[in-house]
Amino acid sequence: SQVPSITLNNGVAMPQLGFGVWQVPDDEAEQVVTTALEAGYRSIDTAAVYKNETGTGRAVTGSGIAREELFVTTKLWNTEQGHDSTLRAFDASLERLGLDYVDLYLIHWPMPARDTYVDTYRALEKILADGRAKAIGVSNFLPEHLERLIGETSVVPAVNQIELHPRLQQQAARTAHAAHGIATEAWSPLGQGKDLLEVPTVLAVARKHDRTPAQVVLRWHLQLGNVVIPKSVTPSRIAENFDVFGFELDADDLAAFAALDEGKRLGPHPADVE
Ligand code: NAD
Repeated sequence: SQVPSITLNNGVAMPQLGFGVWQVPDDEAEQVVTTALEAGYRSIDTAAVYKNETGTGRAVTGSGIAREELFVTTKLWNTEQGHDSTLRAFDASLERLGLDYVDLYLIHWPMPARDTYVDTYRALEKILADGRAKAIGVSNFLPEHLERLIGETSVVPAVNQIELHPRLQQQAARTAHAAHGIATEAWSPLGQGKDLLEVPTVLAVARKHDRTPAQVVLRWHLQLGNVVIPKSVTPSRIAENFDVFGFELDADDLAAFAALDEGKRLGPHPADVE
């Protein structure tokens, strides 16, 4: 494949570009994910709370692509945190997906006020030891949550999937991840396709490279070393977002992007989610 892989801290290879399916209804997921697989994507990011693991799994198992060439991520929803409830929730996710393992299993939010993420993560360690996830990690963890987790458990998370785009560049988190060998995966990498794709800097860089705004934003992520999982249900955009390997941003482009950071979240602050 033309998509580079990054090597996670346990040696597992993860495609640097994947396909996200948040907000895709279950009865459309099979078609949409099939379109993505046909376009060349091999990594799919779903979650129990997206309620589309069934349709996503049908596309994966029906694709004819060898299982070992695919990388499937799903996530534990907040209400299921706790050791035993996590094991049950994971079984249910695998069942809906129609798979006997996932490549990556993540805790969706830390929910620090509930104080259950350490016990929850111990269940992920068991799932990993049983070979039912090839890698385990977290999502929306702040550096302080990572420090505590690493201090109290045995397996350093392979990935932290966080909101990250040019308006929220997450330098402190990326530095903390790098210190522990944790891969940074960017959610809402296109800023949810809102006005980010109309910002003059983004438009100028796109024009300069004869590319689209979405393509130069994805290129920026890839050159930073982030894993990206853009979402679209439109076949032309699904293909466009995959076609990001034939060009490179230069130092001027990267400096222009650096100036876009406003520390502005689209989603909630992880400390506030309960
Ligand atoms: P995104 O940044 O990928 O933007 C998707 C939206 O951008 C689309 O709905 C469409 O409106 C637009 N778009 C896509 N391609 C485009 C193109 N080429 N040109 C113009 N507009 C385009 O946003 P997202 O879906 O929020 O994030 C991607 C994935 O990240 C999700 O599907 C999900 O898998 C994951 N995610 C995870 C969390 C988490 O808490 N872990 C939260 C949000 C999203």
